[in-house]
Parts: sequence; structure tokens; C-alpha cells
Amino acid sequence: MARRRMVYEGKAKILYEGPEPGTLIQYFKDDATAGNGAKKDVVEGKGVLNNRISEHVMTGLNAIGVPTHFIRRLNMREQLVRAVEMIPLEIVVRNVAAGSLSTRLGIEEGTPLPRPIIEFYLKDDALGDPMVTEEHIIAFNWAAQQDIDDIISLALRVNDFMSGMMMGVGIRLIDFKIEIGRHWEGDFHRLVIADEISPDSCRLWDVKSGDKLDKDVFRRDLGSIADTYSEVAQRLGIMPRPGERTEGKRGPKLVH
Ligand code: C5P
Repeated sequence: MARRRMVYEGKAKILYEGPEPGTLIQYFKDDATAGNGAKKDVVEGKGVLNNRISEHVMTGLNAIGVPTHFIRRLNMREQLVRAVEMIPLEIVVRNVAAGSLSTRLGIEEGTPLPRPIIEFYLKDDALGDPMVTEEHIIAFNWAAQQDIDDIISLALRVNDFMSGMMMGVGIRLIDFKIEIGRHWEGDFHRLVIADEISPDSCRLWDVKSGDKLDKDVFRRDLGSIADTYSEVAQRLGIMPRPGERTEGKRGPKLVH
């Protein structure tokens, strides 16, 4: 079999050429990084968990008409996605103060925000992903005003959907990051959610205990992220709990 061609390698994922034109294979690595690569580790099973969790979220988004690049999962670590032209921005939506917002503005972590706050960061590792405003985005042509309006509306729809999905399993969606691409069809394009949505890119707190169920466990050395991400997957019904009988049960089964 011919070796497939790698298109891009990032910190947590690799993109390969897909089986048909206009498609890519997104491979989830076990590499964990924080602080723009300053802290690194390999966490066995993280790629498998993020592949499944991202599949679950993206499938749900597709089902309610929020377009994503996700087509289908191929195996434990890979999913088939649409090839898109990435907008070079990270879009962060916040419901509760945490992380860089708390540090920058001195607002205590855990303070509910009066409304969801959307922030834009330029995707540029060399610059440390600096925060940018709509003025920068338009002036430097990273996206047009209409794109920004569409991005904000997509981001808020993802926030509503994910907040509900997580609250249903006892998790508060504190904040998250998404990336968006242009999916071209002939001369026209539409904006779609791309990349991944997983505990690597969200803050998730247990409703009752306030325990962190996301990458902050790795960033702040709070425990095992494999166990933490498994807990999220189990609550969402994506993976069985150890010893749990799956035969005859409704819901997705773990397929090797
Ligand atoms: O660090 P900060 O508080 O700005 O992060 C906000 C949200 O965006 C968090 O959920 C974090 O996991 C996510 N994020 C990300 N990738 C980055 C920066 C932030 O997924 N490069």
C-alpha cells in the first residue's frame, strides 16, 4: 500500500491526505503540551479519548445544523474530515472567568460572567497566539466583517449546544476554543467548525465538586489526564465504565 502523504503536523494532531479529493484524515496523537509547548508529555490513550469526544461533539453539532468539517470516525485515532481553508484565528468563548481572563483582568476564577464573552487570538506559535481585535482581523485581512459576524453566531451556537450537553452529565462548560475553516464548493464557501472540540480545548468543571475535568489537570499538575478525559467520555456515554456491561445497552459501543 502506498504511504499516505502527510499534509500538516501540529502539537496534538497530524493531517494526512484523505481517500477522496477534498477530504483529509485527522490523526489524534497522545502528545500533551501546554504553555505553547513549554510543558510536554506523552499521555497514553489521550488521542483515542479526544478522537471519540470530538466525534461526539461534532456529530451533535452537525445534527442541529451547525456545520463542521467532521465526516466520520475511521478508527480509534483517526477521523475523516473535509479539507478546509483555515482562518488563522482561535476563537474563545467564556461563560465563567478562568485562565488568562482571570490573570489579565484580575477577576477571580469561577466568577460567572454576565454574558458569554468572545475573544479572538491570532494562531501564531512564534508570537504566542496574541489576542487580537476585530479591527486587526479586518485590517490584516484574516477575515472579513461578514465572516466575523458568522463566526460569532457559530461560536454562540456551539456554546449553547455544548453547555446543554455538558450540563446534562453534571459538567459546567466554563470556556472553550474553536477554530473555523472555509469549506469551498465551487466559487462559494461556507464557514464550518474545524480542528477538534475536546477536553484539550475546553474548561469543564464538575457541577457539584468544582473539580477540573480538562487540560488544566495537566497544565497545573492536578492528576492524570487519561483518567480525567475517560471520566468525561464515560459521563457522555461514549465509553463504558470499567466492568460495565455494554451488551444489550443502548448507545455507542467502543469499537477497536
Ligand atoms: O488560556 P485561556 O484562559 O485563554 O484559554 C481559554 C480556553 O481556550 C481554554 O478552554 C483553553 O483550553 C482553550 N485554549 C486552547 N488552545 C489555546 C489557548 C486556549 O484550546 N492555544
